[in-house]
Amino acid sequence: MRRISLLIILLAMVVSTSAKDFTVVIDAGHGGKDPGAISANKKIREKDITLKVALMVGEAIAKNHPEVKVLYTRKTDVFVGLNDRARIANRAEADLFISIHTNAAKNRSAKGAETYILGIEEERTERNLDIAKRENGVIFLEDNHEKQYANFNPNSPESYIIFEYMQSEFVKESIHMAQYVQENLTSEANRHDRGVRQAGFLVLHATSMPSVLVELGYISNNEEASYLASSNGQKRLSQCIIKAFDNYYTDLKKQSTGPTQDKRTTQTTTKTKNEDTAKPSSQTADEKHPVFKVQFLSSSTKLKQGDKAFKGLSPVEHYYDKGLYKYTYGATTDYNEIVRLKKKVNEKFKDAFIVAFIRNERIDTKEAIALYKKQNP
Ligand SMILES: [Zn+2]
Repeated sequence: MRRISLLIILLAMVVSTSAKDFTVVIDAGHGGKDPGAISANKKIREKDITLKVALMVGEAIAKNHPEVKVLYTRKTDVFVGLNDRARIANRAEADLFISIHTNAAKNRSAKGAETYILGIEEERTERNLDIAKRENGVIFLEDNHEKQYANFNPNSPESYIIFEYMQSEFVKESIHMAQYVQENLTSEANRHDRGVRQAGFLVLHATSMPSVLVELGYISNNEEASYLASSNGQKRLSQCIIKAFDNYYTDLKKQSTGPTQDKRTTQTTTKTKNEDTAKPSSQTADEKHPVFKVQFLSSSTKLKQGDKAFKGLSPVEHYYDKGLYKYTYGATTDYNEIVRLKKKVNEKFKDAFIVAFIRNERIDTKEAIALYKKQNP
């Protein structure tokens, strides 16, 4: 009887904590005095498309998931600075930030959809600088932008160095969401696939949560512009983002109700582990034993041992994943040891987390921990 009531209390806690505290911020790009990109015939403006799509996306998410809090950076045709957009999300301690834009290019035949996460790509730098320049150029319309953005100059390539080193904390989730957005845009709305990419967007830089920026299509392309402006097109495009949110949110819920917790709570789950039965650590693992490492940094460029960015951690290893070099410290088959190492790394990199590999292939950390526990009962 007591067990059952305890179970009910626990279940209630899981439901209330995992359900109540998800907040998504929908960011309609541009607005007010900033029209964003404009079509060749000057009739179609980015700010109108992004607002319509943003409102439809927010409305549907709120309807499909009553437990999710939906916030907007704007709900009308008003100007909002980039930092203020991020501030809205940060203040709400949001869990996901979705910024909606449309693209433009001098080449009128350019078309397709792409979804960005924050960063710098080693290749395609010039093209991605163009898009970052255009989206970041908004700050020139803001009062006091030199002070607000610490003299960041959207047109100077040197300014973009701040995007080169990223804390790895939100990269994985951002990519996860970006892939879902991109998948849906290509399959559901038949958009030409320009892929998941990285660029130095100020609005993403200032947010402290997983965040993506989607460029729905090219307003500079006549055919795409009329699609973007049509109510059918806007409906289809919003459905893609809504679906992507569903996919992402479902995955997240699965994670939080699984046998082990995500990176933020792994430390507490190990406290119950009996130290006596822990296996001695080793640097290599046989086929079935996962190797744990502490991931602390991601970078779009390859860094050498001893790089300042490592803050003295040595030696470090790296693996390459979805366009990023991911740097790790330590390697052990002993989960308890990696937890101790992680605490050490956290003194320098507060967001460092545990990753797992089998035969040098990255595997899901939760699964690896479950496997470890099975092998070390
Ligand atoms: Zn834009």
